[in-house]
Amino acid sequence: MSGACFALKFLDTILHGQSSWMARDGAHALSVDDPATGALIASLAITTKAQICAKIDQVSIAQALWAEMTASARQNILRKWHDLAQKHEGELAALLTLEQGKPLSEAKAEISSSLKNILWSAGLCERKNGYEEKSHINGALNEVHYEPVGVVAAITPWNFPSAMITRKVAPALAAGCGVILKPAEDTPLSAIALAKLAYDAGIPRGLFALVITNREGAAEFSDVVFSDKRVRMVSFTGSTAIGKTLIASSAQNVTKLSLELGGNAPFIICADADLDKAVEGAFASKFRNAGQTCICANRIYVHADIYDVFMERFVARVRAAKIGNGFEDGVEIGPLINERAQQNVQNFIKKLDSEGAQKIYAAQPGLTWSFLPPMVYACAEDCSATQQEIFGPIACVYKFDSYEDVVQKANETDYGLAAYIYAKDSKLSTGLAKALQFGMVGINETRISDASIPFGGVKQSGIGREGGYDSLKNFMVTKFICKA
Ligand code: ADP
Repeated sequence: MSGACFALKFLDTILHGQSSWMARDGAHALSVDDPATGALIASLAITTKAQICAKIDQVSIAQALWAEMTASARQNILRKWHDLAQKHEGELAALLTLEQGKPLSEAKAEISSSLKNILWSAGLCERKNGYEEKSHINGALNEVHYEPVGVVAAITPWNFPSAMITRKVAPALAAGCGVILKPAEDTPLSAIALAKLAYDAGIPRGLFALVITNREGAAEFSDVVFSDKRVRMVSFTGSTAIGKTLIASSAQNVTKLSLELGGNAPFIICADADLDKAVEGAFASKFRNAGQTCICANRIYVHADIYDVFMERFVARVRAAKIGNGFEDGVEIGPLINERAQQNVQNFIKKLDSEGAQKIYAAQPGLTWSFLPPMVYACAEDCSATQQEIFGPIACVYKFDSYEDVVQKANETDYGLAAYIYAKDSKLSTGLAKALQFGMVGINETRISDASIPFGGVKQSGIGREGGYDSLKNFMVTKFICKA
């Protein structure tokens, strides 16, 4: 059976008996397309405003009951969710490739990290919440409690349709919160599958509610959640532009925010770097998910001493990459998600060309409209890529001479999510890592995302951290009680 058929069969079992997800009327339907072929995968019913409000009512009621349960009861249910998702690991990965386009190997890695997000959150359920100590007042006791924030609205992007959901929903549930989730309009199917498995595991439908919208409906969803005082927190992963609108909306009811926004990652290759590792690292970081991740290498800085040899080997690596449908064996670069993404990257290329950036390599033009050939550009210091998040398979390489200068250049951005350094000298790499104004730095490593690490950025790359030991606390509020 082909990968696409396997995914469609799974989708059929997920949707079977859940007719509420299917569109009944074309006017209120969201079409989900395969980005590799343009074929229609599913037509889903768009959640109406009245339904969103009703779902918030349900989450609010269910959350109060859920928060009363013991931590170990919540943990058991989350573990069941993990086990069920693990049982369907292959199908979830295939569905992800079908609706998102990324190579199946990347989809499998994403599902594996999604499973870890759930298990990690389940594991944290029993961590001691709060502490007590002798009070500042004679004879009294000070108690600090961490309580669930309450109803959480989660808004997730299309580039990691499964990992971003599990990284928000699992710790929120573990903390005792209820969640109303709005996945990206391009990739709602992974969300439906994860929700169905969660319900099968015993997570109440009312507690973890799902909203399906098109692009216009996304703004309506945020209007509803920010105007409802029962929604105490919004956790968002997406662009800085939309993040800023959410910050403005949060003023209405002083809603707590957790934001993981755009990035502009510098990838610094020092003169003493292991070139094999640097070339492979730069390739993986730049072209993972066809360049559509917020931690992708956006600016590749190469020391002048090794620039020529790096360029030659990097271009050879890009030339060797197979482009195509994510289900095909050996494919490393899949399609872009949609026409809007395609247009954004085309505009960026025009800008690069007009600024005189030198095109060193471009693969053969794509298979269909949605495949953009990977390209490598040699850029001057003042090239616009320095400020813009590319979000496509275009590698921009810069030459540098001094480490002081490269740190300064790397920091000259409004973003501050991820940065990478390749160097053998650990004193040099540690010094650079400390000087870089970014939330996460990978030294000789690009796989910096995991359930166990605090993922997030500084500056306009966001507020708060997801994952790591504090992932539950992100969804909690602190209460102090003085017992005299
Ligand atoms: P991209 O441009 O890569 O799609 P976005 O930040 O626009 O990134 O989208 C990320 C998520 O934010 C998606 O789920 C999308 O539907 C949602 N979104 C888009 N506009 C709004 C909005 N005005 N309010 C709330 N969510 C939005």
